[in-house]
Order: sequence, then C-alpha cells, then structure tokens
Amino acid sequence: VFVSFEGVDGVGKTTQVERLRAYLEAQGREVVVTREPGGTPLGQAIRRMLLHGVEGSDVDGSADIAARAEALLFAADRAQHVAEVIRPALERGAVVITDRYLDSSLAYQAGGRELTAAEIRSLSMWATNDLLPARTYLLDMDPELSHSRLQHEADRMESAGDGFQSRTRQAFLDLATAEPDRFRVIDASESIGEVWNAIREDIDEVLAA
Ligand code: C5P
Ligand code: MG
Repeated sequence: VFVSFEGVDGVGKTTQVERLRAYLEAQGREVVVTREPGGTPLGQAIRRMLLHGVEGSDVDGSADIAARAEALLFAADRAQHVAEVIRPALERGAVVITDRYLDSSLAYQAGGRELTAAEIRSLSMWATNDLLPARTYLLDMDPELSHSRLQHEADRMESAGDGFQSRTRQAFLDLATAEPDRFRVIDASESIGEVWNAIREDIDEVLAA
C-alpha cells in the first residue's frame, strides 16, 4: 500500500510520517519511509542541485535552473525513487510512506511557476510508469504560519517570495478537490495529536481496502 504526505513547507509532514510509521510497525507491518526529492543516492545529488543551486552558476543559486530543467530534475528524482525504492517495497508487501510525491511537483512546478499541470502530470506519469498513491494526506495550513515553524534556514524553494507559497497551497487544495477519492485534506494548524487522530481514523480503512 502506497501512501503520500503533501503540503507546503513546515506543515508537519515529517512528524506525521513518523507517527504513522510507528503505528503501522506496532501492527507488525513492514513500513518503508522515504521522501522526495532525495530518496535515493541519485536523488540526493539531484536534491542538492535543486535546493542549493549548482557550482559555477549565479551566486545565490536562485535564478539558474530553467523551469523545464527543474521539472525534469524532479521527474528524474521520482523515476529513480520509484524504480529503486518504492516499487520493490510494494512488491514485498510493505507499506510505503513518502514525504512528498507527484502532487508536490504539480503544486510547486505547475502551481507556482510557468508550466501547466497537464505537462507536469504526464511527465511524472511517464517517469513512474503510472504509479499513484492509494491515499494522499494533504496537511493544509496558512504558509505564513508554517513558514515561521521551519527549524532550518530557508532553501532555494522555501525562500521564493511573491505569494509563491500561497499559490502552492491553493494548488494543493485544487488537486485534492479534483481527486477526492485519493486525497484527505487535514487541517494542519491543529495540534500534532489532532492531526494524527485524523490520519489514524482514516488509515485502517485504506489498509483494509
Ligand atoms: O519537504 P522538503 O523540505 O524535503 O522539500 C524540499 C523543497 O523542495 C521544498 O522546499 C519544496 O518547496 C520543494 N519541492 C518542489 N517540488 C517538488 C518537491 C519539493 O519545489 N516536487
Ligand atoms: Mg523543506
């Protein structure tokens, strides 16, 4: 069973992924927790380029990656991630939980920048040979609030201004509306325990399906 967590930076995806892992492992299940970008060694190299820019290009690394190149780098990361980690684990019968997947590309690369969602979606479906999660938890909250919760210095994506984060949040919500069977939208401004309760109430159903 394949489950993804989505949402803008700082909404608490990593915390909830770990709660879910603990809950499922306590049931005796094999759980594989992973993330994008950077779920494989190749992906780690791609992640460094995406988040910190590339040596030899402009100083702050913010203007050097063209939108199409960026979309292809995320797709390359995902292709490797699916081939090396996700599909083998699903074939063993493991539950795979990923911190970000296709919807992040749709929300960030299509929602915030110049490419269309249809282009990004077909790129990602090609990259993954059509693998979609059975369930996607969208942790939703005001990006101003979530941004202030970030514990590290903002990376290239996180520091994008001009309402980029708000557009991204809205893009995630629109994706959830378009695919209500796959998505569950959870109010991430609630406490960690409340957010977790909403996920726990849903996951048993997903696993039983
Ligand atoms: O969640 P994490 O901090 O690992 O994500 C890394 C960064 O990459 C985030 O700041 C997010 O904004 C960005 N990202 C993106 N497109 C994706 C996945 C992540 O722009 N497909
Ligand atoms: Mg981040």
